[in-house]
Amino acid sequence: MTANKQTGPLPVGSTIGILGGGQLGWMIGREANRLGYRTVVLDGSANCSARHVADELIVGSLSDPELVQQVAEKSDVVTLETEHVDYRYIQPIEETGLLRPGAAVFKMIQDRLRQRRFLEQHQIPQTPFQSLENEDELTQLQWNGEKAILKTRSGGYDGKGQVRVDKAGSLKAAWAELGNTPCVLEQFVDFKMEISVILARGVDGDIRVYPIAENVHRNHILHMTIAPARVSDAVVKKAEEIGAAIAEAMDYVGLMAVELFLSNDDELLVNEIAPRVHNSGHFTYGACETSQFEQHLRAVCGLPLGSSGAICPSVMLNVLGDLWPEAHEEGAGQPDWQHVFASPASRLYLYSKSPARVGRKMGHVLVKHADLDTAIQTAEDIFEKLSTAK
Ligand code: AMP
Repeated sequence: MTANKQTGPLPVGSTIGILGGGQLGWMIGREANRLGYRTVVLDGSANCSARHVADELIVGSLSDPELVQQVAEKSDVVTLETEHVDYRYIQPIEETGLLRPGAAVFKMIQDRLRQRRFLEQHQIPQTPFQSLENEDELTQLQWNGEKAILKTRSGGYDGKGQVRVDKAGSLKAAWAELGNTPCVLEQFVDFKMEISVILARGVDGDIRVYPIAENVHRNHILHMTIAPARVSDAVVKKAEEIGAAIAEAMDYVGLMAVELFLSNDDELLVNEIAPRVHNSGHFTYGACETSQFEQHLRAVCGLPLGSSGAICPSVMLNVLGDLWPEAHEEGAGQPDWQHVFASPASRLYLYSKSPARVGRKMGHVLVKHADLDTAIQTAEDIFEKLSTAK
């Protein structure tokens, strides 16, 4: 990376540094290969998913400032597949070159309270919350024991770092369970649907929003994404406005996902923001004109954004390690993929991960069909067959 910040589009053949080589890094890398860009990937494992697409793979911790610096020196722009790299480690990249999205975004996202205060400041509707910083605040909280969720301010994902509370007495125990660390107490939202807004913002401020996605979770992990979400046009419009307002307020560059709850009275409340390509945006890879991965690259490379329009309604089914045959060990066999291949409308994406573990995201299936209900039914059938066949 040179000391001069690149302002125009990055020429094809330039090098993109990717911090993290899991499935997201792999799919960004695949699209980078296709577009003619080189990639340097940093990941903790030589066996990571992105090993197949990285022109250079550096193995080591994402929290090692020297390795992060090495990636930056070899790259024309650096981006991340995860929000869990301390912003202080990536901030120096901005002093000499391009980091997209910028470190300020990660600083805000990495602290749940900062994220909530940012939304508050921009009058974006969100889950009602209170801060719980220390023992004093625990006694001062205005909480009458109604259902709530206590979440750590940093480090949580896929339901980790959070505990449900529903009685006045349980709060202290919940706080201790989370390590007496600074937390946010959020009101429990009785939602009828979880949706996400997947969008990209380019360096020129252009914003492209994908069809709003409906998310179904199992055990706090995304199970299925249905696109488009089965909501009214008014909800779609509101969700798009919320997503765009967040991206503008952050002066964001790249792809982002905003997770929202749709309450029983059709109110939208932001749950959280992910400053990266997202599991609930995988449907775009096959069912939209431009995948979220290509779109992210277009944004961070300073190219014009592509169309975010849908080619077809679709359902994305996550394939977790739970579906592998009982012995969750290396070489323990595979699920019977014929159940996917037998469906002409379905595509299998496997992330080359091993071993398979319960809860580990191993791949996904994309089902496309002109009739959304048929796509949903097909995805459910495939899941059923993969679950019972193991
Ligand atoms: P998170 O890690 O914050 O995305 O939360 C994981 C999942 O827990 C969400 O997708 C919801 O299903 C559930 N959840 C989180 N926060 C709340 C809330 N305030 N009210 C109801 N459910 C929640």
